[in-house]
Amino acid sequence: LPQEFELARPVLQTIERAGYEAYFVGGSVRDTILGKPIHDVDIATSAYPNEIKGLFHRTVDTGIEHGTVMILDHGTGYETTTFRSESTYTDFRRPDQVTFVRSLEEDLKRRDFTINALAMKEDGQIIDLFDGLNDLKTHQIRAVGDPQERFHEDALRMMRAVRFASQLDFDIVEPTLAAITDHAELLAKIAVERTQVELLKLFTGRKPQRGLKPFMETGLWQHCPDFAVHEDALTDLMQRLTSGVSDAETAWTLLATQFELPVAEVSPFLKHWKTANQTIATVQNASQTAQRLRQGDLNAWQLYQGGTNLARANEVAVILGAPDRETELTQAYAALPIHDKKQLAITGRDLIKAGIQPGPQLGATLGDLEFQVVTGQLSNDAPALIKQVTTN
Ligand code: ATP
Ligand code: MG
Repeated sequence: LPQEFELARPVLQTIERAGYEAYFVGGSVRDTILGKPIHDVDIATSAYPNEIKGLFHRTVDTGIEHGTVMILDHGTGYETTTFRSESTYTDFRRPDQVTFVRSLEEDLKRRDFTINALAMKEDGQIIDLFDGLNDLKTHQIRAVGDPQERFHEDALRMMRAVRFASQLDFDIVEPTLAAITDHAELLAKIAVERTQVELLKLFTGRKPQRGLKPFMETGLWQHCPDFAVHEDALTDLMQRLTSGVSDAETAWTLLATQFELPVAEVSPFLKHWKTANQTIATVQNASQTAQRLRQGDLNAWQLYQGGTNLARANEVAVILGAPDRETELTQAYAALPIHDKKQLAITGRDLIKAGIQPGPQLGATLGDLEFQVVTGQLSNDAPALIKQVTTN
């Protein structure tokens, strides 16, 4: 067993010694069987939250109303969730009530896909009630139980299906795919922040193509903010994206560039997706740079503006068919005389000392100097810059 499980074994043993059941569940079990590295180890147990809290010295109530308590053990946190069944979803996104149960089977039944419904005992023995091992072996994503019911209960699962297809490079089985097509419009009921998480995992996954194909074929794309008018662009992207992008901001840059959004339309687009403000600034800059790279080389001023986003813009331009200019761009950028306004040899204060009137014009004058230094028309030394503004 991977070290993460070995370290967590005493936690399961403590719960079992107290007379309860406890298992490793979820992504860590799936990824271990696939031979992939794991991040966090989740535990499911028959013990109720208060019973868990009584067994360990250090716990944190991370979601006690859903049955989740974090156990802290030797510096590691283990999310420990009481077996539960989820009944009657009326709003397509959240169970109306969570019922704690004492049976593992009930708990595994409410999980989304067979590959995510495996449990592992402390000694490594796998509990496989829904043929998840076979689906792992044959690389298939299959809903647990009746797929129509499962997507009707929780529409986010449809986005989870396509993101796992990308992350694992798996297929979605036909009945599950058909049920997604039937329920795609329910995605509109899901908080966009949650859809966003899955979309970004799809784009940064191993084989985005593998997730984008069902995303397009089932019509899920039509229920994502501002995607409906970009069918051709998305289909084209599906054909190009043979491997995942570096990070979330690159994914957004890729979409903005492929949609050919003017800079002014980047912010409304990302606001509809409720991304962070910092993401908006980055994507505005990077998508503009990527669009320029698609058209040809960057001049010194454009390189300077691209700044820390040059690699990201290049990654996007390459996906969209431009030649890879990463080395060239890195070298040309490094060779720029300055990389930031703060590196200019003079400040506004120096200009005032030299007799320039304070006011809005001062900022514009500094901006002119910055441009001329970056583009090599002036050298970045104080006397030369002062002379330039005082003689004009
Ligand atoms: P990752 O590696 O991305 O964390 P994961 O499978 O662990 O993948 P989580 O979102 O961490 O995914 O969820 C943990 C487990 O909880 C899943 O493996 C699955 O069994 C269950 N689960 C999560 N979300 C849902 C859902 N919407 N419906 C049903 N079961 C879910
Ligand atoms: Mg997980």
